[in-house]
Order: sequence, then C-alpha cells, then structure tokens
Amino acid sequence: MDTDILIIGGGASGLMAGFGASRGSGARVTILEKMPRPGRKIMITGKGRCNFTNLKDWNDFQSHIRTKSNFLRPAFYNFPPSEMIAFLQARGLPTVVERGERAFPESHRASDVVDTLKKAVIDAGAELLTDCEVKSVSIDGEKFVATCGDARSWRAERLVIATGGLSYPVTGSTGDGYAWAQAFGHTLKPTFPSLTALVPAGYKLPAPRRTDTSLPKGFDHRDSAGEPELKWHIDRTEALSALGKALCGCSLKNVGVSLAVNGSTVQEEFGDLDFTDGGIEGPLGFELSRACVKALINGGKAEISVDLKPGVDHGELAARVSKLWDEIRKDQRSAKLGGKERFRVLLGKLMPWEIIPGFTAFFPGLLERRGKNEAYLDIKSLVDALTSWPFPIAGYVGYERCVVTAGGVDTDEIFPKTMESRLKKGLYLCGEVLDVDSDTGGYNLQTAFSTGLLAGQSAAKSL
Ligand SMILES: Cc1cc2nc3c(=O)[nH]c(=O)nc-3n(C[C@H](O)[C@H](O)[C@H](O)COP(=O)(O)OP(=O)(O)OC[C@H]3O[C@@H](n4cnc5c(N)ncnc54)[C@H](O)[C@@H]3O)c2cc1C
Repeated sequence: MDTDILIIGGGASGLMAGFGASRGSGARVTILEKMPRPGRKIMITGKGRCNFTNLKDWNDFQSHIRTKSNFLRPAFYNFPPSEMIAFLQARGLPTVVERGERAFPESHRASDVVDTLKKAVIDAGAELLTDCEVKSVSIDGEKFVATCGDARSWRAERLVIATGGLSYPVTGSTGDGYAWAQAFGHTLKPTFPSLTALVPAGYKLPAPRRTDTSLPKGFDHRDSAGEPELKWHIDRTEALSALGKALCGCSLKNVGVSLAVNGSTVQEEFGDLDFTDGGIEGPLGFELSRACVKALINGGKAEISVDLKPGVDHGELAARVSKLWDEIRKDQRSAKLGGKERFRVLLGKLMPWEIIPGFTAFFPGLLERRGKNEAYLDIKSLVDALTSWPFPIAGYVGYERCVVTAGGVDTDEIFPKTMESRLKKGLYLCGEVLDVDSDTGGYNLQTAFSTGLLAGQSAAKSL
C-alpha cells in the first residue's frame, strides 16, 4: 500500500504527528498502531487522570527536562502548553490547571484525552490503523517500506518513528523504534528506567538473581562483557520483608530527602514521599530516581536519607523531644503505660501513626530499659533518626512499571527545528524514542505532543 507519510506508533507523539501531518496538507497520512486501540499509555497517565501538560513558561519548564533541554526549545515554542490546552478545549474537552501548573481534563478521565486526539486525527484526514504491528522497516529506492506481522506492507515518502520507549511494555511500548533508528545509522544513548520505585536494602525478601531478560539486545544497560546487567533490577512482585510490610502503604508529607552517591550528597528535595510495594515512590522518590538508578548502573553506592523534621534545628528538636518525653512521663493518663507504649505516644507526636511500626523496626535501640522500671530514651539518637533516616538503595523497579525511559536516540543527530534525522532524509523521530525525559508534572506528555506535532508538520511541508 502506498501513502505519503507513514507514522509508526499511535501513542501521544504519533497521534499528534498524524494530526500535524494531515491538517490542511492534502497529504495521505497513515498511522500504524500495534495495539487494538491507540493511546494505551495515555490511558494510564496521571493515575488515569492524565496530567497532559504543564503551564510553566519555557524557563521553568526546561528546568524539569533531564536531558539537553535546548533541543526541545523549537518544538516547545511551535506548540507550547497553552496551545495544547487550546487544542483540547477547541474540540470540546474542558481542562483544569491544578497545583504546580499541572493541567488535566476537567473530567479527570484520560480516556477523554485519547478520544479527543483520535477524533482530531481522523477529522484532519489521517488513516489510523490498529492491530498493525510493524515488524521491519527498510528502504526501496527513495521510499520507506514498513512491513507488519501479517505481511501487509506500506511504502511511503516520509517515515515518522513514534514508537515510544520501553516503559510499561503492556501498553505496546517495547522499544521497537530503537533498532530501526540504529539501522539508519543513529546512535542510541544507553536506556534506563526513570521515575521509578527505589528499593531500599532489606525492603524485599532476598530473591534469586535473574539471569535472563526479555528485553531486546542493546536496549538495557550492559556490563563490560555486553551481558544484561540486571543485578539492580528488582521486580515489583518480589515479596516484601517484615520491614517492607511495616512501611508499605505509608506516606510522608513535607519531608526532606537527600540522595548520596558514594558518600557525597548529589540531590536534595522537599515534599511528599510514599512507601509502596515497589519501595520508595511518590513525588520525592520519583525526583531522586533518575540520579539514583544511574548511579547504581554505574556501579556506585546510593543512599537516600529522609528528614522527618526538615528546617528544624537539631538543638531545638532535642529540646522539644525532651520536653514532650517529660510531659508524657508525668501525665497521669500514661501512668499505667510501659516504656514502649509511652515511647509510641511520643513518636505519635513526632510522625504519622502509620509510620511508627516501620520506624521502630528500623531503629530498635532508641529506648533502653535501665534499672527496674525506668525506660531510658536516647534523645540524641532519636533526633539523628528523625532527621536522617538512612535508606541504602538495593535496586529499582525496571521498565515493567517505570513512568519513563531515560536514554534513546541521540538528539544531536536530529534537527531540532523539524525533528528530521540528520542522517537519513525523510526520516523523522519524535517522543520518548528520543533521548529526552523529564520530571513528573506533565512535561513528558507535552514533549511527546510538541515533538510529534513538529515532526508531522515538517514531514508534510517537505513533500
Ligand atoms: C504509568 C505512567 C504514568 C504517566 N503519567 C504521565 C503524566 O501524567 N504526565 C506526563 O506528562 N507523562 C506521563 N507519563 C509519560 C508519558 O505517558 C510518555 O512519556 C508518553 O506517552 C510518550 O509518548 P510517545 O508517543 O513517545 O510513546 P507512547 O505513548 O509509549 O506511544 C508509543 C506507541 O507506539 C506503539 N508501537 C510501538 N511499537 C510499535 C510497532 N512495532 N508497530 C506499531 N506500533 C508500535 C505503541 O503501542 C504505543 O502506542 C506516564 C507514563 C506512565 C507509564
């Protein structure tokens, strides 16, 4: 079958590329999506609510991009967050902007975003084919040829690779585009999971080390012998230890965290953190995950330290703890309580109740029995524990449940003003297949939409 512009991948970037390529261009545009429905990953974004963009201006926005942000500048200005909002609103989907300039559909239903995108693509005149898994890409004279699993093939003047990264492969993103880009001479920056759960040492029961992987060769970190380096990858389904069970489900609000690599602090953040069946997650866990995963992969030692009382001076905190402890011991209501119960009452005044079992399991020696009845509280050690609760990191949850793939096709080899390959004329790449990744907050989807639209528009203009 012949078409003018062939787009492989019907996710965020591919759908937007399809819209950009077909709107008003008169070009024949075909999108091939391997899953039965397009935009499967969009459906699970923002916990199903789809934080589709972030309204920060470029200066703020770019500070959340973890790769060469300048590369994205032309795509951002060509289609900024305000236009993404206008795009959805003009098609009947009201949107809301919440804390941190994060934008969502007002319905808080990701499916509404997918439906709106799909309709926009079809109304613009593009053909959107699902259940079409491209198995190979080649060149026949001047044309690109893509062949699907069922032997159907398409010949096109222009090819847009919008196959995404490796994260959440159940949504269809299995890194297929990397090999095609490499075959056209592109360099792959090593990929690794980002915005993922970090597993503290002792959080999971020891599990046999995995020796094989379903990842295609070349797409995960390799050791010096070229073998898959999986020792840091801890599957989310691995069973929790007693400590993991005590902490799992707990959330900490307004805490400080710092990440030390090989003993030196490399990142400090403030905010909220969750302990889940994966390990340390939530906004803070995700913010630290990129640097932490990278450090582990590079053979470093990573440790996260949690400060439950950020901004409070150690001396002040010690005085406060001492005063509270005295009050509890003198309080008639606690006269019948043993030392451990009194200690729990004290901890209840210093941290959320739910975290106390995990905290006391972690620091068993803070309360000592001295003499017949008296329980001695080591206030200095308690203050140290409250302000720097150390979590040496044993590993991380891999692509199967990470939010974004770091690494990918080297952006130095792509024209930032068109998204065309510098190495192969007529080839365009957009979205997460590129070496672009950002923090949580709507930046990744906006990147996919902006690069996708630019790739589609540029491909159409070049015909
Ligand atoms: C759980 C989760 C939550 C997230 N939440 C947010 C959020 O709230 N805000 C945000 O900004 N970002 C979020 N992200 C990240 C964001 O979803 C991605 O960065 C974005 O979807 C990338 O878009 P893409 O088009 O490059 O890739 P994808 O959306 O992954 O699309 C790639 C498409 O290509 C198709 N494909 C792959 N190979 C082939 C092939 N061989 N033949 C045909 N089709 C193929 C796939 O099936 C897929 O549909 C989240 C990600 C996850 C996993």
